[in-house]
Amino acid sequence: MDGSAAPEVRSTCPYCGVGCGVLLRPDGAGGLTVRGDPDHPANRGRLCSKGSALGETVGLERRLLAPLIGGQTADWETALQLVADGFNQAIDQHGPDSVAFYVSGQLLTEDYYIANKLMKGFIGSANIDTNSRLCMASTVAGHRRAFGTDTVPGTYDDIEEADLVVLVGSNLAWCHPVLYQRLLAARKARGTRIVVIDPRRTASCDGADLHLALEPGSDVALFNRLFAEIYEAGAIDAAFLLNTEGFDDTLRQAWCNGVEATGLSPEEVAEFCRLWICTEKVVTIFSQGVNQSTSGTDKVNAIINCHLATGRIGRPGMGPFSVTGQPNAMGGREVGGLANMLACHLELENPDHRAAVRGFWDAPAMPEAAGLKAVDMFRAVADGRIKALWIIHTNPAVTLPEADAVREAIARCPFTVVSDVSATTDTARLADVVLPAAAWGEKDGTVTNSDRTISRQRAILPPPGLARPDWAILAEVGQRMGWRRAFDYQTPAEIFREYAALSGVAGRFGRDFDISGLSDIDDTAYAALPPTRWPVTAARSGGRFFGDGRFFHDDGKARLLPVAPRAPAARTEPRYPFRLNTGRVRDQWHTMTRTGLSPRLSAHLAEPFLEIHPEDALRLGLAPADLAELTSPTGRAILRVRITDAVRPGQVFAPMHWTAETAPSARIDALVAAATDPVSGQPESKAAVVAVAPF
Ligand code: SF4
Repeated sequence: MDGSAAPEVRSTCPYCGVGCGVLLRPDGAGGLTVRGDPDHPANRGRLCSKGSALGETVGLERRLLAPLIGGQTADWETALQLVADGFNQAIDQHGPDSVAFYVSGQLLTEDYYIANKLMKGFIGSANIDTNSRLCMASTVAGHRRAFGTDTVPGTYDDIEEADLVVLVGSNLAWCHPVLYQRLLAARKARGTRIVVIDPRRTASCDGADLHLALEPGSDVALFNRLFAEIYEAGAIDAAFLLNTEGFDDTLRQAWCNGVEATGLSPEEVAEFCRLWICTEKVVTIFSQGVNQSTSGTDKVNAIINCHLATGRIGRPGMGPFSVTGQPNAMGGREVGGLANMLACHLELENPDHRAAVRGFWDAPAMPEAAGLKAVDMFRAVADGRIKALWIIHTNPAVTLPEADAVREAIARCPFTVVSDVSATTDTARLADVVLPAAAWGEKDGTVTNSDRTISRQRAILPPPGLARPDWAILAEVGQRMGWRRAFDYQTPAEIFREYAALSGVAGRFGRDFDISGLSDIDDTAYAALPPTRWPVTAARSGGRFFGDGRFFHDDGKARLLPVAPRAPAARTEPRYPFRLNTGRVRDQWHTMTRTGLSPRLSAHLAEPFLEIHPEDALRLGLAPADLAELTSPTGRAILRVRITDAVRPGQVFAPMHWTAETAPSARIDALVAAATDPVSGQPESKAAVVAVAPF
């Protein structure tokens, strides 16, 4: 076939939460040509290295082509019945809370919807959590505390309309590259000032006016000081403050703390406060350096406090802005993929919300309490409370903190099912049943990006072998478990219509997430759905939230939260004197299931490494390219040394992408203790303590 003759298909990149539009065309040799979609509002034709290499990653290498039972190929009929029977048996013998789903921001919204409906409405447990717990849970909790709902106030356009952009715990240049390109273009056009707040000097600092290399975990102290300085400078927006509660307590708390814990000089703090206070159009972007912390929720609220006090929210070029890690972390939040949420931003603990969802689904059961969040879920697997576990498109045996213990827990679980595109991941190797899932490029559905834009992922390649879409696998299991009518879906469009209609129920409760304007979308319109920012109702479409001073707490007001600084849970000590920061590299994604297939991407940084300051390297006798052994209270790793003053003395950095399959000695999350934020349950992945020695 002549690939150039085929029409281009519009879809969405499957990597980060920027959610770039892509134009795909079969290349005639089993692959795809890929270019940025000039009409997609997220990227307007731009792509980063990962997105532009997508065409190199659609081959069949490592693909699972048929169900596996005990490592042996099986047919779907046998595998699906075994899964349904395994879950039903556990529920019959031990109750609904003896089973759990651990799902992923890689799922499409339609997949997520079915998984959530099956667990929360029909099995009757809230034991469904997503790997977005490791990514965005602190933002969700911070938004809900401040606004009453998990609402992203602004849009990507705000980044281009701001005069000051502050990046907090965000290496935007590597982790959300197209947004960074948009920021640099805005800087060129209008002179946008950029401040980076990060213990490490990252690529994002290259274009910054100011880099504040604060001590890990001290963000609350810095933003509390900013809050106090805003007051001292008379920069409070008194009129907007009428839309909030909690100002006096927040100011008292802000006055209480000093900034010594930040490790920054008084001049650096003063310069940051001056810039922020004197610039009306300010966007504060935050990401994993804020979220992945035992004080992550407080950090989020410390940032939001400053925007609320100045009324700099929901107006062009102003606002706190969380950028999500995964392509559909937002869709998962919206659809209720977290163990403490219902679908459509409804509240699990609210009896009226529960009754409404139960009635909508005609569901036989609905849990009344939150289920197990990710870290607790795997603790429950370890201590035998979970008897049947379904892990979908994620690799917790590598990516959860204390990964060695998680691996052992999964291995001991009486019945584990994994749905994935590969059977060779660390987690899939431990499963009793592995189900072949359709991959990006082979499946149809929707995703939501960081600025609430819903985009279509479209199938352009046939699923190989016996692979099936996740929604179809989940619905089939739901039917075999006994709920034939409730899970009788033929297409993702049908699921999307039901989901949109359910959001209308949420809208009646005055919730933010309402796409009921799409509930009667027909198959043709769903197929052609252009990028659409929610809400989508008869009354409004897209836009910003909160500029009008109306929030989603019962009294319509926002909450300022008095938050006190807290150090990371793990303390350095003579045995573990280094603070370990973890993160991504520019050209890899998660555990490299897809990006690892591209030679071009793998050439950027080909092997795992440890960044260490020259003074520490000298003291330990480490030379460039030496191997270093890292030990922590929970694990061990061996990494190639890169000596750089991008990290400060006493701190080291290591990327988290490598697995038992790709670099057995470099499973970084084995070193990270499973300490979590008390509000969000998000683990502290960026402040482990380790010893470093020559290997
Ligand atoms: Fe894909 Fe993110 Fe790169 Fe856009 S910025 S092409 S969504 S990885």
